[in-house]
Amino acid sequence: MSNLWSPRVHELKPYVPGEQPKMARLVKLNTNEHPMPPSPKVVAAITQAATDSLQLYPDPESTELRQTLADYYQLSIDEVFVGNGSDEVLAHAFQAFFQQDKPLLFPDISYSFYPVYCGLYQVTPKQVPLDENLAIHLQDYEQANGGIIFPNPNAPTGQLLPLEAIEKLLQKNTQSVVLVDEAYIDFGGESAAKLVPKYPNLLVVQTLSKSRSLAGLRVGFALGQQHLIDALVRVKDSFNSYPLDRLAQAGAKAAFEDEAYFQVGRTAIIKERERLTQALIELGFNVLPSAANFVFASHKTQAAEALALGLREQGIIVRHFKQPEKIANYLRITVGTSEQTDALLAGLQSLL
Ligand SMILES: *Cc1c(COP(=O)(O)O)cnc(C)c1O
Repeated sequence: MSNLWSPRVHELKPYVPGEQPKMARLVKLNTNEHPMPPSPKVVAAITQAATDSLQLYPDPESTELRQTLADYYQLSIDEVFVGNGSDEVLAHAFQAFFQQDKPLLFPDISYSFYPVYCGLYQVTPKQVPLDENLAIHLQDYEQANGGIIFPNPNAPTGQLLPLEAIEKLLQKNTQSVVLVDEAYIDFGGESAAKLVPKYPNLLVVQTLSKSRSLAGLRVGFALGQQHLIDALVRVKDSFNSYPLDRLAQAGAKAAFEDEAYFQVGRTAIIKERERLTQALIELGFNVLPSAANFVFASHKTQAAEALALGLREQGIIVRHFKQPEKIANYLRITVGTSEQTDALLAGLQSLL
């Protein structure tokens, strides 16, 4: 009965998330979640919020959470926007800024939600190729555009751009919004948040899903000057006034208040990433330099697809992208606990 659909729904090409298999005892290294649980203070705050006043609507403006984020990044509360996961924040940004006559520029190999939002919001995409080492060159973005978006570090390559390169682009590109998607920045990069006061067209988007161990809570946020945040609020309040429930607001706030726990978690991942990288190189992989909580690796002789299938038979799930061709021989492997790394390495050893 798809004749009942709005005509445009036929044209949509929805995002396909990494699978969340129901099997027990999996080594799940396919969706870049943090292997550690969130801070106990987060759990306590959520429990408190759950017993407090769940019969009442939450604060539509998430005031306390936004103030906590503003303090953390040394901005004002009017420069912070929060949403139901950074995916929702990105969606609102596409609608708020990128529906322009000129195309939206983003890397040809990047977060696969960007082309999906282009389809949903009728934004014209223009994909800019990575170089032969799968790196972004921001000079390539100095061309006519209705907006620029890229992840830093990039996904799924893990490669990081220095802040100086981003600042150079901002100096040249002043007439459209430059959105830096920092889903993985805490694992080795420097946030562009500190450039916000200087550049009126910079929007920085982050998530609590990765470095704060809160993929299940669905909280993301944007940092930018007030005129940009105002546009996001207009879109949000035309869509859903209460994107963050009481539990999410309380839990996210507590996560940013427990700096010590955050530091332990991210340091453990960075250390484990280096061990995993070395071990993969010893097994004959080329591994791109990663500043994220995953590595992107290609074996010198074995096909990535066969390795992914062989691992799966052993209950070890990694991500393999059949498309585009340029990355079809790579595996994206999330950095997990050291036990998970050991299981992965043993699994690969048995296949090689
Ligand atoms: C994981 C991820 C997101 C989305 O994160 P959520 O906050 O969980 O919606 C956004 N951008 C990139 C590049 C990601 O990898």
